[in-house]
Amino acid sequence: MRLTVYGAAGQIGGNKILLEGQSRVFLDFGVDFNTRSKYFSTFLQPRRFALVKDYIATGVLPSLKGLYEKDEPPFAEAVVITHGHLDHYGHASLLRPDIPLYMGETTRLLIKARENTKQKSPENLFNKNENHPVEVFRTSSKLVFEDAVIYPVHVDHSIPAAYGLVIETGEGVLAYTGDLRMHGPKSEMTHDFVEKCVKMNVETLVIEGTRVDETEVSTEDDVRKELTRVASEVGDRLVSVVVAMMDFDRLNTVLSVAEKLDRVVAISLHHANLLTTLRRGGARMNIPELRDEKLVAFLERRRTGTYSKTDYPSWQTELIEQIPTVGDEEIRRDQKKYLLVLSRAEDIIKLSDIEPAPGSLFILSTSEAHSEEQVLEEERIHNWVNLLNLRYKHIHSSGHAPQKDLIKIIEEINPRKVIPVHTQKPTLMKQLLNNSGLKPIVEEPVQGRAMDVF
Ligand SMILES: [Zn+2]
Repeated sequence: MRLTVYGAAGQIGGNKILLEGQSRVFLDFGVDFNTRSKYFSTFLQPRRFALVKDYIATGVLPSLKGLYEKDEPPFAEAVVITHGHLDHYGHASLLRPDIPLYMGETTRLLIKARENTKQKSPENLFNKNENHPVEVFRTSSKLVFEDAVIYPVHVDHSIPAAYGLVIETGEGVLAYTGDLRMHGPKSEMTHDFVEKCVKMNVETLVIEGTRVDETEVSTEDDVRKELTRVASEVGDRLVSVVVAMMDFDRLNTVLSVAEKLDRVVAISLHHANLLTTLRRGGARMNIPELRDEKLVAFLERRRTGTYSKTDYPSWQTELIEQIPTVGDEEIRRDQKKYLLVLSRAEDIIKLSDIEPAPGSLFILSTSEAHSEEQVLEEERIHNWVNLLNLRYKHIHSSGHAPQKDLIKIIEEINPRKVIPVHTQKPTLMKQLLNNSGLKPIVEEPVQGRAMDVF
């Protein structure tokens, strides 16, 4: 069997990992943001009628016949998605619809919720003219393909319903971690995955290494303590926190902090939409309920600035009718009563009508800037922080395992071969493993070049 890494070789994200024997299965099919940002921006967009062509020409998508167009027999038997982050599933939308997609039950709901808020686009999975057929799985599922049987096992990551995959083939057993961590609130799920790998004698481990160079571990509990500490020092002023839309653990942490400080949480309409969609879809998880006393949605003003129904896109109009909301005027008058949760740092501009008392808190509780573009955007956010006289804090715990946990996972699984993906530093992982007691073969993937799995 052979394995080809597209997107995630020597860089973070864009995972498209092709497993190939008699037939082919892709593990993840994410957006390669690194390559995309080299050629495209808000102002320089791929052409809608030539989306796949423009992406192939620039190397954002692999050039493979029969994968996107129905010009030949289907290139692959299936695509298995590990979790609902765009760099793992986002470009599955461009695959021809007769290549079936497999993903976790809740992953499907999360993607639907996200796309509810978007305009129709060929880069959406569900919200376009032709829906892509999807098969859903859970931890006990067994996905049977021509050359491989795949066992998805839940792992802990900064989004619910993330999975690692243990894959049985005629030549041996391999595993692919997707994205994972050991220091999160659901670390026992990652342990279940590692245990399954041990039990099935995984020989080759394809492992993410996002934070292989990081030694610091801050846990969700550290985040809770730090948030509580800074928010309790703020007195009667406003507390606002930016939380990534799909980061449920963080949202729960913020809710518990607010409870302790006796503040009402006002979440963004994007967060409210996510909670409502998951609840309606019957997701098997604890979903906070929007209630008048404790959890409401922040109703921002749009277009005319008068809260007129026609100002809002249809997903918001429908949502607003079903949930308790609070406007900027109410928050302005009683700033100590609220903890405001925004879904993007850029939403800081929405604070200007609230007129936060000087020294109010603006907490970024998402990962810090990586790309040049993000660094520029961060500078803009800081300018707004100063303009609005806010106090800025960055409080976060990562969705990815740091160095010592990555090594621990590999030591426990004890594979013969390790293939580091989703990392800018595969060579560092090789060095670390050479210095450990194990000395597995570490094979650094090269973009688009096939290698033997075992
Ligand atoms: Zn992820």
